[in-house]
Amino acid sequence: MSKSANPFLEITAPGIENLKPYIPGKPVSELERELGIRDSIKLASNENPLGCSDRVRDAIAAEWPHISRYPDGGGYALRNALAKKHDLDPVCITLGNGSNDVLDIIARVFLAPGHESLFSQYAFAVYPISSQAVGASLRVAPAVDYGYDLEALLNMVGNKTRVVWIANPNNPTGTWVNGEELENFIAGVPANVIVVVDEAYIEYVDKPDYPDASKWLAKYPNLIVTRTFSKVYGLASLRIGYGLSHPDVADLLNRVRQPFNANSLAMTAAMAALEDDGFVNRSVQNNSAGMAQLTAGFQQLGLDFIPSVGNFIAVDVGRPADEIDQALLRVGCITRPIAAYGLPNHLRITIGRPDENARLLSALSKVID
Ligand SMILES: *Cc1c(COP(=O)(O)O)cnc(C)c1O
Repeated sequence: MSKSANPFLEITAPGIENLKPYIPGKPVSELERELGIRDSIKLASNENPLGCSDRVRDAIAAEWPHISRYPDGGGYALRNALAKKHDLDPVCITLGNGSNDVLDIIARVFLAPGHESLFSQYAFAVYPISSQAVGASLRVAPAVDYGYDLEALLNMVGNKTRVVWIANPNNPTGTWVNGEELENFIAGVPANVIVVVDEAYIEYVDKPDYPDASKWLAKYPNLIVTRTFSKVYGLASLRIGYGLSHPDVADLLNRVRQPFNANSLAMTAAMAALEDDGFVNRSVQNNSAGMAQLTAGFQQLGLDFIPSVGNFIAVDVGRPADEIDQALLRVGCITRPIAAYGLPNHLRITIGRPDENARLLSALSKVID
């Protein structure tokens, strides 16, 4: 095929021409085939190394005979379960095909050419992608110590700003903002600017002053909080997440939402997952033990890392991380280089099971030698 410019660029919607696609990790099976290896470990996509709750299997088995039917487009049962969990009215809830879908819906509802979408340096890659896809301009506030500088972010809110995106904690850095800082920020943003607080990793965070922003929804009608079943609940492949917001905002999001964006297997699995606190607790415990294991290992290897409260950690390998990534791949350890985030010397490593973490550390010590 010719390498000349794509002729269809001339007819794209604004923003598409300069859009860089999100680059997901390769599937494990494909990598193993390419490299001629087996038994690799995947610590690349912040998935739950313990899998998911056993209850999910039974729930899916019960739902399976009905998969020829469209799902409940209103997501009645799951929205009610979530309303109970969050002590909110079901009208505050917008279901998504993963929370990425909710982020995308937010962009489509509130952003257009001429508008500005604001986020921090190192912020999750979906914010610029969804914003640029609808033709909005991107504004990036500089980070401090890899973390968000909420003052700088607030200073950049202007009269064209429509949406500000905050991942707390942030992926890929694992940094977080505390309750006082975050609420001051939200209170300082004009009421006609949407603030999105993406809480994909909230269950993992163990800090007394870490805020659950959903508690502020009644106070700030311009706030949207997003959550996912992909991380601690271990349902990444099913694609289910949701937004919490003022009913007026949810009404707009639901206008743009595809009618069947949340499928039956995902919704039934999510409800089963919500009922298994034991699984969530075991996952969180595995994560904190694994975080301690990995950080101790990095220290022993003399490697700096960005302190993380998520289920992953970005480690500075002191040279282009792509090389280290390739060397790790050859011994069956799949991690995620994050040069695309402007962090060329960092590898993002998902916390695994104890045996996986040990294997990663041992491989890392050999390849950085
Ligand atoms: C993983 C992740 C999500 C969740 O994405 P899903 O579409 O729900 O799988 C959202 N935000 C951030 C910052 C993430 O890292």
